[in-house]
Amino acid sequence: MRLDYFIATATALSRRDAKKAISAGLVKVDDQTCRKAGTPVAHDSTITLEGHPLSLPGERYLMLHKPRGVISATTDSQQPTALDLLPDGIRQGLHIAGRLDADTTGLLLLTTDGQWSHRITSPRVNCPKTYRVALSEPIDATAIAQLEQGVALRNEPRPTAPARVQRLDDRLIDLTISEGRYHQVRRMLAAVGNHVDGLHRWRIGDIILDPALAPGQYRELSPAEVDCLA
Ligand code: URA
Repeated sequence: MRLDYFIATATALSRRDAKKAISAGLVKVDDQTCRKAGTPVAHDSTITLEGHPLSLPGERYLMLHKPRGVISATTDSQQPTALDLLPDGIRQGLHIAGRLDADTTGLLLLTTDGQWSHRITSPRVNCPKTYRVALSEPIDATAIAQLEQGVALRNEPRPTAPARVQRLDDRLIDLTISEGRYHQVRRMLAAVGNHVDGLHRWRIGDIILDPALAPGQYRELSPAEVDCLA
């Protein structure tokens, strides 16, 4: 889709005014000002008008309380997937914004909006995700300081970015990270000599898992929740 058509569809602007806004330098594509109305828009680009991210009307946004044992995939012939938990009529076109391991429970976001999910998963955006982590060993101040500074993961050249840790108990922490590396939380805790017994994601950006949702239940996001990841 061309940029001017995208702007006209996502806002109240006419095609003509969308073109004017673009040539006036009010539109950015992935953080770069773009003055060409005919630029093709990739499905996962972030488009902003005067700094406000735009999305096309008719997109759908859901939160799901993922139970243990369900995989973060749209289809799988062997195991139940997150999409299998939704009624037939609403699965169409949804994808998962930020996967969880099969053993991990908690907040899973699903959407039809590729640009919105890109803001959650892109390493360039640094969207924070908070996990409640149950540990097999007590955690001490040294390990917490290491996690907060960044730790080296096996077979990875770069240490993890600084994390936030809140100690809730000897063996229970809230860990907030902004990256999404493979098995990142489990590997970070292994790097400081501990082991994860239970992992539950309860927050992505400002979206908090609705406590009214039992494992396996879902609901639509409110417009305010959709916008808070803008
Ligand atoms: N980190 C992990 O190790 N597992 C998850 O499911 C999410 C983050």
